[in-house]
Parts: sequence; structure tokens; C-alpha cells
Amino acid sequence: MDERVYDTKKRPVWCPGCGNFAVLTALRRALAELDLKPEEVVIVTGIGCHGRMSDYVRANAFHTIHGRTLPLATGIKLANPNLTVIAHAGDGDAYAIGLGHLPHAARRNIDITLVVHDNMIFGLTTGQVTPTTPQGVKTKSTPFGNPERPLNPLLLALASGATFVARGFSGEADHLKELIKQGILHRGFAFIEVLQPCVTFFNTYQLFREKVYKIDGSHDPTDFEAALRLAQQEDRLPIGVFYRVERPTLEDYFAYAMSPPPALRKPQAPDLSKTIERFR
Ligand code: SF4
Repeated sequence: MDERVYDTKKRPVWCPGCGNFAVLTALRRALAELDLKPEEVVIVTGIGCHGRMSDYVRANAFHTIHGRTLPLATGIKLANPNLTVIAHAGDGDAYAIGLGHLPHAARRNIDITLVVHDNMIFGLTTGQVTPTTPQGVKTKSTPFGNPERPLNPLLLALASGATFVARGFSGEADHLKELIKQGILHRGFAFIEVLQPCVTFFNTYQLFREKVYKIDGSHDPTDFEAALRLAQQEDRLPIGVFYRVERPTLEDYFAYAMSPPPALRKPQAPDLSKTIERFR
């Protein structure tokens, strides 16, 4: 399918050079190469600069409140498991206000894909610290330098039981597209962290260019301990699939209630006769 099918023709309002452009391109290409029809796809976005993704991808879209992409995506998937549900969140969205949802989506193994646009800063609100801002970095809210050690999202996802854990880089859009395709095809919760510079408030392009490298073929993605070791690297930043295993999904446990899926049932007026009888 031609990737232009997914283009809403709206002109992105992101700053020139923003990493969001590469994620948008990678997503559209991944959808096109998987030959998914726009009506079969749902994009859920939260609050932050990434949130505009739902305006720029011609598919079903839900731009929800801050930090709540995962509950929305979970509900949509359970209502109609035939849909391909892709949640997008920023690092503030996914790892600050919405952090409580990530471990539970991972351990439930709901069959959705979460793409986190991690630019290590609150961009939309003009540059405040987030849970992944490196220690010592001066932001508007940490003028003397960030005193906190950053969260390691990959370790968190692994420890929470995610069955697909990957990291991409917006400076490697083709590689990122392949990761998104693999995440969509994975049956279960797919967590994709994307290193994505915010050129306006925390430009990390040079830093990432120096530290990012692709995981080579010698890594066994079914080896949990090897994935943990990769995720703990700080001097260099591996990108690729860290971990991938098969496990029953949340929808599998609800199989008894999925035929037909709730969203595809014909609405029926409830039988209230017994209830009315009680009050006669
Ligand atoms: Fe991108 Fe940062 Fe501009 Fe937001 S503020 S659009 S994240 S460069």
C-alpha cells in the first residue's frame, strides 16, 4: 500500500528538525508495508508535542488526556480485538503522570503497541525536566541542574513482563520503521522506546549520534538476562529488539466474551421486566 494513504495532508506544526517527523514517517511506512487499511488502525495519543500524531495519520484516532493513552488503547482493543491499536506517548506522558499504566499493560500483555517519543524534556510546555532527563541537565524547572537520576524505561518494561521490548532512534528512520512493524506484528504488548531529540529545548542529536549503535545478530532476544544487560548500558545506547517472547494475551483470557467482540454486537434493548416486577 502507498504510504500517502495515511497522510491527512495537514502540515505538521512541529519545529523544523524535530524528531517527531521521523517517527511519523516511520509509522506511516510501517503501516503501508504491512498493508493495513486505515479503517483497521487506531492511533491513540496523549498530551505533548507527540500528540499531534493523531492529526497527521489518516486512520481512526483518539487524542486523549495526559498520561492516559494506555487505558484508552486497552479499552479499544478489548472492545474490538480485530483492530490494530498503536498508542503514542511522550516521556512526560508515559513515564511521569501516566507511569502507573505502563507496568500493568506490560504484565497483562494486551496486544497493543506503545511508541514512546522520549526526548527527555517537556517540549510542549517549553522545557521542563521529565523522568528521563539526564542528571545535571539545566532545564526551566531545574536551573541549577537536574538533581535526580533518570528512569530507565527499558529495565522497567522488562521487569514488568513486557513480551516485546525495543528501542529505536529518530535519526535511524528505516531501522525505526522495522521496529514498529515488528511491534505491530508481535502478539502481545510491544514497548518501543524512541530516542528523539527536541531540537528547541534539549538538542541531543550529537549525543545520540555518538552513543547509539545497532544491536547485532549475536544477541538472542529470547534471553531475558542478556536483554537486561543491554538495557543497563549507559555509555553506549543500543537500538533494536532487546527482548521478544510469546505469551497468552489479555484478549486470550477473555476469549469466552469475544465472539462477537463487544463493539461488533448488535445493540439489544435490555430485558428489564424482572427488575420492573420487583418494584410493582
Ligand atoms: Fe519537537 Fe521540541 Fe519543538 Fe516540541 S518543542 S515540536 S518536541 S522540537
